[in-house]
Amino acid sequence: MLTYFLFLKNTIIQYTYKEFLLFWFMLFKTHLLVPLFFILLFFDKISNPWIFIPVALFASILPDIDNPYSKLGKKKISRIFNFFMKHRGIIHSFSFLIVVGIFLFFYFREIFYPFVFGYSIHLILDCLTINGLRIFYPFKFKVKGFLKTGGIFENLFFVFLFLICVFLIFYRIFVVF
Ligand SMILES: [Zn+2]
Repeated sequence: MLTYFLFLKNTIIQYTYKEFLLFWFMLFKTHLLVPLFFILLFFDKISNPWIFIPVALFASILPDIDNPYSKLGKKKISRIFNFFMKHRGIIHSFSFLIVVGIFLFFYFREIFYPFVFGYSIHLILDCLTINGLRIFYPFKFKVKGFLKTGGIFENLFFVFLFLICVFLIFYRIFVVF
């Protein structure tokens, strides 16, 4: 059995792989569904959906590249990132987003909006979890919520939002168009 060690307040707590995942990371599917909900809701405000949607969805899962166990973090290329970036460190912060955002704003304006949109949603969602985020890394200030990743609230929230998204898709297809 795979086990991982976390050093918390001088105590070594041993987690199984699954517990580790559930404890630390908001589920991948929720990170995709929330931006999708906003995209469906404001679809007619998006000027270039062919760029906006893929970039926004990609950006909404991108921060978890610093997590060696997330879907994206499992890819070989991100092992390099894992080497020097601990999970929920610099990449999981608005400090990082501001720097990348300024760069995109000046050089890739079309990507700027969807990227900031998707990335911000990821960070805000992670802020709602009990582990919280150091949003202005390296400053210690932390924002924490009450959501347990993979817990009952996240799952209920997911199902609820999923149904709304299905409704919005039908609404777009049969009523708006
Ligand atoms: Zn995350």
